[in-house]
Amino acid sequence: MQHYYVSDLPQVDGYHVIHTGDCRRLPLPHSRTYLGAYPFAVNALDQARRFRTAVNGCLTCTPGCYQGVMLSKSSKIS
Ligand SMILES: [Zn+2]
Repeated sequence: MQHYYVSDLPQVDGYHVIHTGDCRRLPLPHSRTYLGAYPFAVNALDQARRFRTAVNGCLTCTPGCYQGVMLSKSSKIS
């Protein structure tokens, strides 16, 4: 289990980013929200989406959840 956080301030692309507790890019305590401890980053992502509309993974600690901004679920590869 890892502890996960989401940044309070969105990035320039408008996304709030989730991080594990030991990520070197984790925001300072006053600018992050604790999500809880989860077995998978995707669980933390689901939790973050309950109160943040645009959430993304971190390339450093949760690359499996990272999505390029242009790769939204609505874009389909045919
Ligand atoms: Zn991170």
